[in-house]
Amino acid sequence: MKDLLFDAASRAVRFLDENAEAPVAASGAAVQGLDALRGSLPDAGLPAADVVATLDAIGSPATTRNSGPRYFGFVTGGTLPAALAANWMATAWDQNAAMHVMSPVASVLEEVALQWVAEAMHLPAAGGVFTTGATMANFTCLAAARHAVLAKAGWDVERDGLFGAPPITVIVGAEAHATLFKSLAMLGLGRERVVRVPVDDQGRMVASAMPAIGDGPTIVCLQAGNVNSGAFDPAAEIVAQRGSNTWVHVDGAFGIWALASPEKAHLAAGYELADSWATDGHKWLNVSYDCGIALVRDANALAHAMAISAAYLSTASTQREGMHWGPESSRKARGIEVWAAMRSLGRQGLAEMIAGCCRHASRFAARLTDVGFAVMNRVELNQVVVSFGTDDETRAVIAAIQNDGTCWCGATVWKGRAAMRISVSSWMTSEADVERSADAMIAVARRVLSGSRA
Ligand SMILES: *Cc1c(COP(=O)(O)O)cnc(C)c1O
Repeated sequence: MKDLLFDAASRAVRFLDENAEAPVAASGAAVQGLDALRGSLPDAGLPAADVVATLDAIGSPATTRNSGPRYFGFVTGGTLPAALAANWMATAWDQNAAMHVMSPVASVLEEVALQWVAEAMHLPAAGGVFTTGATMANFTCLAAARHAVLAKAGWDVERDGLFGAPPITVIVGAEAHATLFKSLAMLGLGRERVVRVPVDDQGRMVASAMPAIGDGPTIVCLQAGNVNSGAFDPAAEIVAQRGSNTWVHVDGAFGIWALASPEKAHLAAGYELADSWATDGHKWLNVSYDCGIALVRDANALAHAMAISAAYLSTASTQREGMHWGPESSRKARGIEVWAAMRSLGRQGLAEMIAGCCRHASRFAARLTDVGFAVMNRVELNQVVVSFGTDDETRAVIAAIQNDGTCWCGATVWKGRAAMRISVSSWMTSEADVERSADAMIAVARRVLSGSRA
């Protein structure tokens, strides 16, 4: 066991060292190489050392290096050193975060880490839980919302289901994230059975275009951080329109972390007025996959939505029992890693990590604008949306940038036009990485465009 784990650790460390220079995207040959891992399960076992060696030889080259400093796709973040090391410890401990008796440390650190996340963002959360990601965090918060607005209308949704229940009006922005609709569908609230509020040029809900909210059960979903532009729905103006039975939920997968930075908190002003907040740890907090975070103002609503009971599950405990707060029972102990990440950063380190990513995004925008490329969003957070010309030209440039390997950015469609999306969310990205990546983007774009326009 010991030799095996040291071997695995040294392979992992070598992999991370290579991030400084290795191409960000896996080569075609490396992806092809994965075929060697296919086939039926062999009859005979393989010594663990050979299993690890095989994984390293074939698996490591077929990774996308989002753990490195020049990955700007999909708002993923990397993994902070303390988080990765804590992850290794926690995996060795093999703790189940379902119940306090199964893991006192997981139970207490989940409680502390949730409290720290809420404190760092100045959010009045009284309850919460760690989930797999923001999709499930949205689901969890919306289950609490569904409970609360129906309970107020005299309906017990956990007991009686949705058949025959008073209807719930669900209001979302036209730019709400695709996974929010999936969460609504899983809760029986329907992907299409929603009122979509028009958005402005940055993708923000237009507060004056909100439908009149009556006193019936209503859930309003705000977005803190549009996946393309990084823009925030105008929370205060929308919260002011709530009725007597309205729950305001926030999908803040990455953007709500702006609240942890005094420099950027103004972007998310008013979000503390909401009733629930879904976010991710595995994006901007830079912990490893997977880690979502659900926070609610009314712990009771979440408890009603999520509590379970069985004879062997003690309910008399005064300790935190994780399984009563989220959709899962047996769970990975995500609080350990979040605690480690936040303890290593402190309030100041966290604020600086957030603000630093935003400065990098502004620098990208400036470099690209300087040479004549069109930045299509107002760059206030960590997101840059850029066009390199016609849709075909932009798509060709993105493919060439991905192929070049210096950095990696994804394609998107913004306001009906093809665009490249730069998301800066890794603790590791330095000013030098930004300059080097911008140099590569500009050189590649010029080469591609001189060909296409020749
Ligand atoms: C990433 C993201 C999600 C989904 O989060 P997962 O962690 O992938 O489940 C939801 N909403 C927004 C705004 C996001 O950026």
